[in-house]
Amino acid sequence: MANNEFGSVFFDEISLATFDGTVWSDTRFQASDTLALHPATHVIHYASTCFEGIKAFRADNNDIYVFRLDDHIKRMRNSAKGLRLPLPNAGQLRKMIVDLLDKYRHQVPAFPASAYIRPTLFGTDTSIGRAAAPSKTAMLFVLISPVGDYFSPNEKMRVLLNTENLRCAPHFGAVKSGGNYASALGLVMDAQKKYDAQQVIFAPNGDVQETAAANCLLINDNEVLTKGLSSEFLPGITRNSILKVAQSLGSRVTERDIQADELIEWIKDGEVALSGTAAVLAPVSEIVYKGDIYAVNGGRPAANSMKLRQALNDIQRGAAEDSFGWMTKV
Ligand SMILES: *Cc1c(COP(=O)(O)O)cnc(C)c1O
Repeated sequence: MANNEFGSVFFDEISLATFDGTVWSDTRFQASDTLALHPATHVIHYASTCFEGIKAFRADNNDIYVFRLDDHIKRMRNSAKGLRLPLPNAGQLRKMIVDLLDKYRHQVPAFPASAYIRPTLFGTDTSIGRAAAPSKTAMLFVLISPVGDYFSPNEKMRVLLNTENLRCAPHFGAVKSGGNYASALGLVMDAQKKYDAQQVIFAPNGDVQETAAANCLLINDNEVLTKGLSSEFLPGITRNSILKVAQSLGSRVTERDIQADELIEWIKDGEVALSGTAAVLAPVSEIVYKGDIYAVNGGRPAANSMKLRQALNDIQRGAAEDSFGWMTKV
């Protein structure tokens, strides 16, 4: 299983509910391999969709824990608001996730693998005339994929620091929506082709924001530095968790704007790492900026990033005390 492409194998069923314009249906379970939709379905034409990415872990004693479940549900409801979609009922969505995990708990792999949970909400009105109108009806499902550790410690990661483009529309960056990925995709492909870079850090007019799918943290022996939350980028739950763990380990945590030139200065003897649920915290090894390639942390290993990654992993797998109250037992 660990050899499969990330997110391409699924539990046999999804949990699903629909909104008819007035109320949410009861939750039902159905096969995870098909979904019938009318060709005029709102989401297919007007991208009325948002999702979450959540992980559940199997602890050494076989208990199963979901990481920061209620924070993810809260963010999904916020994304739904941004898309003017019917808001999922928090209690129902929570139960859709927990019940599906419970039913297929034998398929949750042991750490460092995990169950990657993908709640997805989208507009289902069947009218192609509603380009400028929200969908009154919606579907919500929870799809779960057993995944291996996304992170490979020995792999080099080259990233392009792009000061020319925005990842997505600046008022929409905090919405976890497929359209934002579509907006960034071509620019990431261009960076791969032109610079052999795996990711792009978007820094429009020099303002360092995030990559297409992960937040960006500057880390050294005594500080973690990252841009303060704004409508322009996604408020990552891993970002927030790393900041809290870093603070508890005695680091200074600073949230403020960072200029591209400052980032290039920082990496002479500081680390840069990307944070997200899939990879947790992945150090960047090289940054391409204005046509030059810079070695991050002067080419030395990212010891501080790896220490923070380990500290968060230990909480997630039940090896360290859950002092922040982040883990929900299934
Ligand atoms: C999901 C996502 C992240 C990471 O968020 P986490 O809650 O840490 O998984 C960062 N940036 C973008 C654009 C995302 O979609």
